[in-house]
Order: sequence, then C-alpha cells, then structure tokens
Amino acid sequence: MKPDYPNTQLFIDGVWRDAAAQNSLDVVDPSTETVIGAVAKAATSDLEDAAQAAQRGFDIWRDMSPLERSKIMRRAAGILRERAEPIAALMTREQGKPLEQSRIEILAAGDMIDWFAEEGRRTYGQIIPARQSGVMQVAVKHPIGPVAAFTPWNFPINQAVRKLSAALAAGCSIIVKAPEETPASPAELIRAFADAGVPAGVIGLVYGEPAHISEYLIAHPVIRKVSFTGSTPVGKHLASLSGAHMKPATMELGGHAPVLIAEDADLDRAVSQMVAHKFRNAGQVCIAPTRFLVHDAVYDRFVSGFVAAAQALKVGNGFDEDSQIGPLANDRRIPMIEELLQDAVANGATITSGGKRIGKKGWFFEPTVVTNAAVTSRIMNEEPFGPVAVINRYADLDAMIQEANRLDYGLAAYAYASAQSTIQRMVQDVAAGMLSVNHVGLSLPELPFGGIRDSGYGTEGGSDAISAYLDTHFATIHV
Ligand code: NAD
Repeated sequence: MKPDYPNTQLFIDGVWRDAAAQNSLDVVDPSTETVIGAVAKAATSDLEDAAQAAQRGFDIWRDMSPLERSKIMRRAAGILRERAEPIAALMTREQGKPLEQSRIEILAAGDMIDWFAEEGRRTYGQIIPARQSGVMQVAVKHPIGPVAAFTPWNFPINQAVRKLSAALAAGCSIIVKAPEETPASPAELIRAFADAGVPAGVIGLVYGEPAHISEYLIAHPVIRKVSFTGSTPVGKHLASLSGAHMKPATMELGGHAPVLIAEDADLDRAVSQMVAHKFRNAGQVCIAPTRFLVHDAVYDRFVSGFVAAAQALKVGNGFDEDSQIGPLANDRRIPMIEELLQDAVANGATITSGGKRIGKKGWFFEPTVVTNAAVTSRIMNEEPFGPVAVINRYADLDAMIQEANRLDYGLAAYAYASAQSTIQRMVQDVAAGMLSVNHVGLSLPELPFGGIRDSGYGTEGGSDAISAYLDTHFATIHV
C-alpha cells in the first residue's frame, strides 16, 4: 500500500524545521508524475546555522570516546532496521524502485553503520622508534573536522549512509545535502541517528539549490572535508572548489562499466547475474554493467540469452509485488536515454530489444539491449544511467581489454572466464577501481568502494574510508 508522504524539513542543531524563508521544492512520484509532497529549500541563513551547529556538534562528538560513539551508532542501526518497512515505502514512493529493493537498501544501511561503528574503535596511531634515547615519537589520529557531504537520488539512503557512518565513526560532525528528488527516506536515516542519541549539531541535513549549498559550505571555514557522489562533471567542479579552499575531498563519480565475457565463460551464470545487475534500480547505478565485451565464439549465445532474460523482466510500479524494475527516477533520464539510442542507431547500432518508453504517465522504460554499437557513438562513451546494455563482439582478450580501458572512467568492471591465466590477465590489466570476476561481489561495508581516473578518488568502504576523515598529528617528545 502506498504510504502517506510527508513534507521533509531541514534538520539543524538537533531541530527539524522549515527553511528560513519558508521556501520549498515539489517532490514528484516517478510512477505517476504527480506531486506528492514538498521539501524545504534552505536559504543562506539556514546553511550558516547548519555550519555553526556542525562546529558545536564536532566539539562534543570529537571528545566522546570511540566506544560511546560506537554504541550510539549501533543503536541507530537497530532503529533503522525496526523502521525498515515504513521507510522502504517512502523510498519506493519518491524514487520508484521496487519495494523489495528499498527494503534491501535499508537493511544494508544497518550493516554499514554497524561495521563502521566497530571500525571507528580501531583508528590506531603509531609509536615510532626514535634514533635517540629519551625521545618518544607518537603519531595519533584526530577527526578532521566538520564534513560537507553531497549525496544523489539513485540510492537515497545508501549513498548517504556511507559518508555518515565513516565520518561519525572517525569522530567528525557532518552536514548532508541529500537529494531534493528523494528527500524523505534519507531524512528518516538521519532521524534514526537523532533518536539513537547523536547530540545536536553532530548531524545536519539540508536540501535546496545544490550549487548554492555546495558553494557556500565548501568555502565555509568550519568545513574541513568534502565528500560527493554524483556525475563526473559536477564532481570535477566540486573537486576544484575544494582544492581552492584546501579541503580534502572524496569523489565517487560516474562509470561505464565493462563486462568481459571470455570464450570459456559460464554463460548461464553470466547472463543471469548480469541481467539482474544491469537492470537493478532501472540501471541508475554508478557500478551498473554497461559495455558488454563478448568473445566472438560465444557472442550469439550470450546475446540471445541476455535478450530473453531482459524481456522476461516485469516493469511496473514499485508497489506492485511482481515489479522487478520501477520507473526512472526523474524526468531528465528518458530524454537522455532516447538521445543516446537515436545516436547509436544513426551510427549503425541495432536495438535488439526494448528501446522505448512504456505508457505516457510515469517514467517507465523498456529494458533495452543495443548490439553492434560503434565505438565512436555516444552510448559507448557516455554513462547511460538507465536500463540499457550495449553488447559488442571482440576477436580476443587483447581487444576486450583494450576496449575496457579505452574510456577515462574507471569505476567498476566485471568479467566471466574459466582459465586461470585469463582471469589473472584481467585482474592485472583491467583499469578499474573494482573488478568482480565470475560473480557480483561489490559494495559490502568492509570492501574498498571507489574509482580511478574520471570516476573519482578516495574509497567509501573498508578501513581506508575512515582514514579520509582523520588527520595524522605527530609529536616528538624528549623526556
Ligand atoms: P547532475 O550531474 O546534475 O547531478 C548529480 C548529483 O549531483 C545530484 O544529486 C545533484 O543534486 C548533485 N549536484 C548537481 N550539481 C551540484 C552542485 N553544483 N553542487 C552540489 N551537488 C550538485 O545529474 P543528474 O541528472 O541528477 O544525474 C545524472 C548523472 O549523474 C548520471 O548520468 C550519473 O552520471 C550521475 N549520477 C551518479 C551517481 C553515482 O552513484 N555515482 C548517482 C546519481 C547520479
């Protein structure tokens, strides 16, 4: 059943409130294109309040013991799990994804918080042996300071919880600018932390005009660290703003993931895993497989298997129990995808399956398979961020690896092969931040999560994710 949809407020200094000028933005249900609610649009004075509160929050949180912080975080994880069902319904309403996928996202967020809560207790420093007797040399880790985090609409909770968990575990306060298109579910994530006892000011939540908020907060002297998830062009802009103010940044940006299918690949496994992974969240996933690079010897079998599995998927409202793919999340996606498909066809590609919008209300789009796309066509170079797979034919492993590494993107890559030598070659030569071979195994809290090249820098998983929120302070003492 569809839930009542709330208006979403800002959360500043431990208080839920409207924007100073009472301004708001509409929130639209992507399955029906109707306005279902509003989200507060922060004014400059709200951002200033949030920054000042983040400094006060930092002063409190930094001084709490890691054990105490960890207990509060674990409590937040528990609260989130208890509320998973109503929050999942909000997420499906505002983002469109099938209810089961929303539930999984929320439960995974609980795991993420728990893992970082524990890892925050292990931010060890070092005692470094001295060259001279009577000298003690110590390097200790300190939280870097208040963080400004910018998170997108494709995984409204997952994208925020990675940044929140790592920052809080390190002892930082954080202001999250969550997505205006999908505001209610990330607000419930923040509410879980507040209800768990995170002190006022430690977490702030703002929405509004993204460029206004990022320009104000990144430049603000209180903010010491920036983290962004979104497109490469916006990431480059925010990275340069951060650099201009000497603030370290973590950038989790776009991708155009290659999938290498070798001639000895287990095709049944490759098809079933990759179809599910390609069309999850209607393909609006930075690590979604996009360019399928298939060995000549198995190309026809792979294409027919993939097309049959894609055509069997049920597209529909995320609240319908049998829906496997929901609508695209906003009105920008369909025109983008249609442009890419038209360009691909104009450059000689075939739309082997799908390719069209479904119905006239709601941003539903057919799971689409494009074959024989020219390497110069836009779809082979720009992230489709939608339910489109491109499958091309390659003569040998060298040609596949060359194509896999051709783009400046380097986020996720996938491969299916049997021979150990082929797998070793792929692991060594595929230029990607993350490579998953013969299964889909990315994105767990304890694993590195991040890209190289134009896909960004820094990791949002594993121990290194906490390091990004810590400074090293060194002291040498002659006793
Ligand atoms: P976009 O580039 O306009 O925005 C992407 C995200 O960045 C949004 O959440 C937006 O609010 C935010 N943003 C935009 N300008 C900003 C600014 N100046 N300061 C701070 N935040 C800003 O594109 P879009 O139409 O929302 O999304 C489409 C593209 O974004 C996709 O093609 C994909 O490449 C990328 N994207 C990536 C991810 C990811 O998980 N890496 C998630 C969502 C979108």
